[in-house]
Amino acid sequence: MTEHYGDYEVESFLGKGSIGKVFLARHRRIGRRVALKTVHLETKFEDEEDRTEFYKRLQREAELCGSMQHPNVVTLYEVGYDGDLVSFLATEYVDGETLLARLRRTRPLPLDEAIGIATDLLRGLAYAHSKGIIHRDIKPANILLTSDGRAKIADFGVARPLNSSLTATRSLVGTPNYMSPEQVKTTPVSPRSDLFSAGAVMYEMLTGVKPFAAPELSGILYNVVNLVPPRVTETNPSVPDAIARVVAKLLAKDANQRYATADEALSELELVDHARAAALESGELGLLTVDHGDDTTPLSTIVDYDPTPSPLRREVEPPTFSSVAVVLVAPLLA
Ligand code: AMP
Repeated sequence: MTEHYGDYEVESFLGKGSIGKVFLARHRRIGRRVALKTVHLETKFEDEEDRTEFYKRLQREAELCGSMQHPNVVTLYEVGYDGDLVSFLATEYVDGETLLARLRRTRPLPLDEAIGIATDLLRGLAYAHSKGIIHRDIKPANILLTSDGRAKIADFGVARPLNSSLTATRSLVGTPNYMSPEQVKTTPVSPRSDLFSAGAVMYEMLTGVKPFAAPELSGILYNVVNLVPPRVTETNPSVPDAIARVVAKLLAKDANQRYATADEALSELELVDHARAAALESGELGLLTVDHGDDTTPLSTIVDYDPTPSPLRREVEPPTFSSVAVVLVAPLLA
């Protein structure tokens, strides 16, 4: 027999979430497909206060998501109640995968894909922040990728309204590898905390490694607060330095040293990316000159912006540069 939640009929199981099972379901009257986040009724609570906090959090997720409508944020359609308590959240179904699953298959990600996801992430954050909402748990598992390559932020479960008295709650909220230093220190957070987490996600997409990884939880927390990770370009030299600079600024330990807003970070990333595209184009033109025997062409520019690193680069002697460079850039011209 088909399982029902309100007007929704369960079609398949999507995954295990923090609050219970997530199903792909269909509204029996209007046919809309949704991701149905159900509340696990057997959830064990330490005490009544714990239970109240859990339902408060769900209700807050419903209220926060209910106020948002943006292409880079998963839309909430409906909230199911059992009496006064939330029993399910019906959200936009994203037919794709999480960034976590994507990174399991490929790491680092191709440069263009990583920049596309980072751009969508910053757009979604800029929007949430403009609504007065801090996400607080930006991580690959909470970024859903559509089949046409768009990224959407999900799971506002631990989000807090900017002015809420709960903002100052001194409890550790977030996921260690992506937490900001101010979250680790349980000091009050601002929207810049999400920018730090976005920086950690970008770092991982571009290098394939988590910036603050350590074998023990205490090591991760220590690293978040104290360790300045190697520059992105040290691990992946095919990333343009200007993009590595954006990531480093997002990961500044002192929140005041980061971008002031997600919009500011987004503008900088877009500027740098346009410059990269332009350099790539002019590099191609320069290369044609090389092919005609001009040894003074600044090949380093072309090599710096080559998104597919090749071990050939380091081994090539100057006189053979032009022919090898043609091989390197040929795929980019196609
Ligand atoms: P969560 O409770 O948000 O951590 O979700 C648990 C799992 O359910 C995720 O890892 C996804 O695989 C899946 N999921 C959650 N939300 C959606 C959605 N809107 N569309 C598709 N799958 C989702």
